[in-house]
Amino acid sequence: MADCLFCRIVAGEVPATIVAETADTIAFRDINPQAPVHVLVIPREHHTDIAALAAADPGLAGRLCADAAAVAKGEGVGGAFRLVFNTGAEVGQSVFHVHCHVLGGRPFTWPPG
Ligand code: AMP
Repeated sequence: MADCLFCRIVAGEVPATIVAETADTIAFRDINPQAPVHVLVIPREHHTDIAALAAADPGLAGRLCADAAAVAKGEGVGGAFRLVFNTGAEVGQSVFHVHCHVLGGRPFTWPPG
């Protein structure tokens, strides 16, 4: 999608600090990190959110999660990390191309705020 920020990162039109790539996904550092490790993992293909992706292509949704876990391991936090898919503006989604936040490197509370 021409007007999607993350599609433009996939296309190389917007710079990003890429930490991992597969045939299906790319992982890059969040521009406004909330933890020592804060990486976004996205499918190359445009889907609005995790619910839309899981409905359209459950296999790709699974690979996205597996790739997110691999990123956590590669970042040295594979034993303790948080994956977040904000889904809907009301809960904080601001970019409507599905992305998995991989967060780690500090303690997290539960429940989240
Ligand atoms: P969300 O609020 O769940 O939709 O998350 C969107 C995330 O994208 C936020 O954590 C932003 O800091 C991050 N973000 C926005 N623009 C960029 C960018 N150009 N490069 C990397 N991360 C970005």
